[in-house]
Amino acid sequence: DLGSSLRGTLDKLRGKSRISEEDVEEVVKEIQRSLLSADVDVSLVMELSDNIKTRSLEEEPPAGTPARDFILHIVYEELVDLIGESTELPLEEQTILLAGLQGSGKTTTSAKMAWWFSTKGLRPAVIQTDTFRPGAYDQAKEMCRRAEVDFYGDPDGDDPVQIARDGLEATIDADVHIVDTAGRHALEDDLIEEIEDIESVVDPDVGLLVLDAAIGQGAKEQAQQFDESVGIDGVAITKLDGTAKGGGALTAVDQTDSSIAFLGTGEEVQDIERFEPNGFISRLLGMGDLAQLTERVERAMEQTGVEDEDWDPEDMLEGQFTLKDMQKQMEAMNNMGPLDQVLDMIPGFGGGIKDQLPDDAMDVTQDRMRTFEFIMDSMTEAEMEYPRAIGASQIRRIARGSGTSEESVRELLQQYKMMEKTLKQFQGMGSDKEMQRMMQ
Ligand code: GDP
Ligand code: MG
Repeated sequence: DLGSSLRGTLDKLRGKSRISEEDVEEVVKEIQRSLLSADVDVSLVMELSDNIKTRSLEEEPPAGTPARDFILHIVYEELVDLIGESTELPLEEQTILLAGLQGSGKTTTSAKMAWWFSTKGLRPAVIQTDTFRPGAYDQAKEMCRRAEVDFYGDPDGDDPVQIARDGLEATIDADVHIVDTAGRHALEDDLIEEIEDIESVVDPDVGLLVLDAAIGQGAKEQAQQFDESVGIDGVAITKLDGTAKGGGALTAVDQTDSSIAFLGTGEEVQDIERFEPNGFISRLLGMGDLAQLTERVERAMEQTGVEDEDWDPEDMLEGQFTLKDMQKQMEAMNNMGPLDQVLDMIPGFGGGIKDQLPDDAMDVTQDRMRTFEFIMDSMTEAEMEYPRAIGASQIRRIARGSGTSEESVRELLQQYKMMEKTLKQFQGMGSDKEMQRMMQ
């Protein structure tokens, strides 16, 4: 497949520290092929390629950075620059209006989003204003029943604007109002008029464009139209569980100067993910988990200053695991996901080995992590390097200094021991080559 030929091309750069113009051309050509087959707009692909070419040839890789990593990093940065971070969705009262063509997945997405908000402790309600498509009411109602969220619709109504108005009143107790609209096969004037009228009654905080992942060049006109009529703040891409990679969404994001909010990955109400640029880009390039891992590791390393000689992640696998490592690991987790998941992505570290781990060995929740960070800030350099030497009086001092409890300090030390033990189990497992790859 395309991803593997891109990887092959990148692999040819392995070991090189300088990239020639020829190398760059070859990599860029592979990337173009991947992006075009993922339905990314041709002019966007050209713009990206130009930027990648220019930067790869003009910029100096930081000392010690392999050419392959450097170019991959530039590709990644340029794509992130284009796609952007996930649409901001504060967990508070708000009204969201969904727009999009018929069959794009609006009704499904509205119930999914309601479910998602309910898992965040909010009380969402879906208001169904589609009076055009037969069965729209029943479909929305049934999905909301499955999502266990409030629903309003009028099976006999024929005025979407009136339904929207009534719906907002009827669901006044909800925090998040999600207004689903009708779609047509194409952008007809009456559809645009109708959604404009709904928009003025609903006065949404967020306008969301729902796009089928398979949409290609058509994304541009839709995005433009809906942006003009209701204002698009974010995009939801549906049906990413199929073969389409959703590159059309880049056009929409570019056109509306917005970002991607959600990804739909199936027909059930739980099949929804918040957009996350890293995974999406890996999917676009067809490079799979290993690429994702490389990027994640790379990014995490940048942000945690791994390059300083203070901390070498390889030490972690050689039995010199200190609290400093744990601290770096905890910081990195913010970017990489839990360590067990990271290890999961490496060939050879699959389920079998993971099953041997105690369930909670790698499990440090966000809250505990914050407490642990306070505690480690109160430790001395020596304590961080030799945590095993920390005694009762030091524990008392650290607890007082960090404004936490002795119990929390003990918990941290316990966690440290568990992680150290777990890492020992990993030593010698998996192939060295893969491990080096991960650490590159
Ligand atoms: P609407 O006309 O925009 O409201 O679109 P619907 O929500 O009715 O969805 C149209 C079809 O696409 C339905 O059969 C959905 O089950 C299906 N669908 C929506 N989202 C997804 C998705 O993420 N994955 C899959 N496989 N199907 C989806
Ligand atoms: Mg619908």
